Amino acid sequence: MSTATGNRAIIVGAGIAGLATALRLRQIGWQPLVVERAPRRRAGGYAVTFSGIGYDAAERMGVLPALAERHITPDKMVYVKPDGRPRFAVPGPTVRAMLGERALNILRGDIEDVLYEAIREDVEIRFGTTIEAVAQDDDGVDVTLSDGTVERAALLVGADGLHSATRRLVFGPEEKFRLDLDHMTGVFMLDRLPSSVEEGTTSTLTDTGRTLAIISLGEGRSAAFFGYRTDRPMAELAEGPQTVLPRVYADMGWAAPDVLAQLPAAESVYFDTISQMVVDRWSRGRVVLLGDAAWCVTLFAGFGSSLAVAGADRLGDALQRHPGDVLAALRSWEEELRPEAEKKQKLGRRVKGLYAPSDVFRLWLRDLPLRFASYRPVSRFLQRRLQIKA
Ligand SMILES: Cc1cc2nc3c(=O)[nH]c(=O)nc-3n(C[C@H](O)[C@H](O)[C@H](O)COP(=O)(O)OP(=O)(O)OC[C@H]3O[C@@H](n4cnc5c(N)ncnc54)[C@H](O)[C@@H]3O)c2cc1C
Repeated sequence: MSTATGNRAIIVGAGIAGLATALRLRQIGWQPLVVERAPRRRAGGYAVTFSGIGYDAAERMGVLPALAERHITPDKMVYVKPDGRPRFAVPGPTVRAMLGERALNILRGDIEDVLYEAIREDVEIRFGTTIEAVAQDDDGVDVTLSDGTVERAALLVGADGLHSATRRLVFGPEEKFRLDLDHMTGVFMLDRLPSSVEEGTTSTLTDTGRTLAIISLGEGRSAAFFGYRTDRPMAELAEGPQTVLPRVYADMGWAAPDVLAQLPAAESVYFDTISQMVVDRWSRGRVVLLGDAAWCVTLFAGFGSSLAVAGADRLGDALQRHPGDVLAALRSWEEELRPEAEKKQKLGRRVKGLYAPSDVFRLWLRDLPLRFASYRPVSRFLQRRLQIKA
């Protein structure tokens, strides 16, 4: 066991939050060790909108140009009927105008890729390794890992996502903090774009309580995205995507049968509950949660990856402002970041009802702004106002 704590940090999880934290800590002269449960890096995933404070943070951390290279120019959004005929479509230039200028549309896996490339030379990452026990004293924290080692550090960062083991070990059981928003989501990469979907578009069918979107990502890549209401999210999580997605979507019509026929093995499907984490304080002593482990705002808020990168950047700032005083740094970091995370959580809870509306009237109401944006004069106005080139 090493006894040197000084500026050593152990980071659990090599997702966006963990990798961004490793990069930022390295930039201020810390020595991070990252442990990741998966045997290797994950690829692909779903496309996220990366904007706001996360975009600003990425710029400061020097990774924005590499992220911008992975930007996928969003194109036309088509809303279809169950028979596949279009209900309405929002043209590509309007979609780009709605995204805004300081924002990227990028695969989650590509954000991880860029962060990984930025640290791989300088930071040790142990794949296939997880956290088993934590003990802390006034001077440091001892972390027992599944590879049989015990590592001592000045700081332990739990960036291990919604179902964080760090949180369970140090803060308490997940049920104490999890607020289920009564929806599930599933995402996987498709082998081929269904013939009923136009190349270069995002096509969406929503009927009462469920949504299926097929996203053409360019370069021959496409993804299927499922989101639906349920009153038994944890039970369905246990059942797994192979059982649940066909049960919920088999009778949906349009491209659903084709997409379900391409459903890969469970490990290649992102399938989870849509839940927020409501944690009263994000640190206990020298152990801090960051990213979905701490605040998971959910895809309803559409801001989780941005908050993860901004959280990492600001943690670095706080540690720099409080040299040698990790506890003061963690207090000041949380004070600064919490209002933003709570604002996004509130947004997520508000948007929940609009996602897969429970009846036809609510669906019509939800689509109203998009329908409006699909009209040519409104489209032109939006493009002009937001100064986006067609
Ligand atoms: C469908 C969908 C759409 C989204 N859209 C957007 C969007 O438009 N904009 C946006 O900003 N955000 C969006 N988000 C949210 C965003 O993807 C997440 O908030 C962000 O990726 C969180 O990253 P994280 O690193 O905190 O967690 P995760 O991505 O969950 O990473 C956690 C990592 O920890 C590892 N791990 C887990 N347990 C252990 C353990 N015990 N030991 C070691 N390692 C462990 C995991 O393998 C993983 O690598 C979306 C999310 C979803 C699901």
